[in-house]
Amino acid sequence: MHTISPILDRDPPKLRITGIDCHVLLAPDFDPTFTSSGQDSLVVVVHTDQGIDGIGECDVNPWMAKACIEAPGTHTMGLSIKDMLIGADPFQIGALWEKLYLGTAMNGRRGVVIHAMSAVEMALWDVCGKAVSKPVHALLGGSPRDHIVPYASLQPAGGRFEEYRDALVQSALKAKTLGFRAIKSEVTMNGPYAHGGMRESYDRHTEVVAAVRKAVGPDMTLMIDVQYLWSDAATCLSVVKDWKEFNCYFLETPIWSDNVREMATLVEQAPMPIACGEWLATRYEFEELMDVGKVQVAQPDVGRVGGIGEAKIVCDMAAERGRTIVPHCWKTGISISATAHLAFVTPHCAFIEYLPPQLCHERLRRELAHEELVLRPDGTIPLPAKPGLGVEVDWDVVKRYTVA
Ligand SMILES: [Mg+2]
Repeated sequence: MHTISPILDRDPPKLRITGIDCHVLLAPDFDPTFTSSGQDSLVVVVHTDQGIDGIGECDVNPWMAKACIEAPGTHTMGLSIKDMLIGADPFQIGALWEKLYLGTAMNGRRGVVIHAMSAVEMALWDVCGKAVSKPVHALLGGSPRDHIVPYASLQPAGGRFEEYRDALVQSALKAKTLGFRAIKSEVTMNGPYAHGGMRESYDRHTEVVAAVRKAVGPDMTLMIDVQYLWSDAATCLSVVKDWKEFNCYFLETPIWSDNVREMATLVEQAPMPIACGEWLATRYEFEELMDVGKVQVAQPDVGRVGGIGEAKIVCDMAAERGRTIVPHCWKTGISISATAHLAFVTPHCAFIEYLPPQLCHERLRRELAHEELVLRPDGTIPLPAKPGLGVEVDWDVVKRYTVA
């Protein structure tokens, strides 16, 4: 199995994994009717015998992810993730990933088990970087880029159409003031992700896209996420055929990710590129999405796809197919940093998703971690230099929001 491990110019220091802690965090003001996984988190800490700890995070129900990591094994194809890692050499990330993938085959080869493994794998990269005093991008082979470009991921507000439209226009203008070159607006007033249970017509979705484009002007890169709004390609096309004038960089998840054949029809006929992949686990799901679904923009999430190494494999597959990468990320500074390190070694990564702390509701995003990433006035992020992921977690915040 092809896997990815740290690339080093000398033998790694001898380290052993001695423990794994899983912290289930929940924002005290979380709203279960709010469609945002940024309200919770599973933060994983991998401890070693040299006192070097690594941190990781995944994007799935954190109680479930914790159980996936801590559950005891009961037979040879249903082993315990935690038990498989204790005593192991953290520098063998690729071999460990394969061991976990095979050893948990009957626990879950997709979905939550892979998402949970993502957090552990991310923490291993952090350990290794700290152990050799190098940033993760250097361990991935070194960055050919001196900067990456984040896009501001913007959420709506309000319960009525006018409030929704105006909130998106206002946040787009604020993002422009903060220096962002690119934004993504969630235009979802119907369908499974409908904001606050709204049931607005598709015409009104067009009105919102038009209003945001008009507000930011022609030079801002504008992405639109409709969050699985339509059930088939024909209905989607009947609406988005008129969106050409808005010059959308991509249209994200117009239909359910499993409808890969319908996705291929959209790719052929929509007047903008189609983006998808935020929910997917492993290279195999991306292979189907790219080869059958034909999507032009693949969106692996490091906290879901299987970790930094698996995301890198997906990025390499996209390069072979001439596709663009724009990673998904809706969590705290831990995941944003992991995503940034991936982007620095991925020349065909056009943008990374970035939840601006100034513009988001999620207190975990704002408070949990101080990442090294700096948004410069020209809307770019320079190469990080700190060892590992370059993230400092605020342990008081962890303590305050830990619920399990
Ligand atoms: Mg999305």
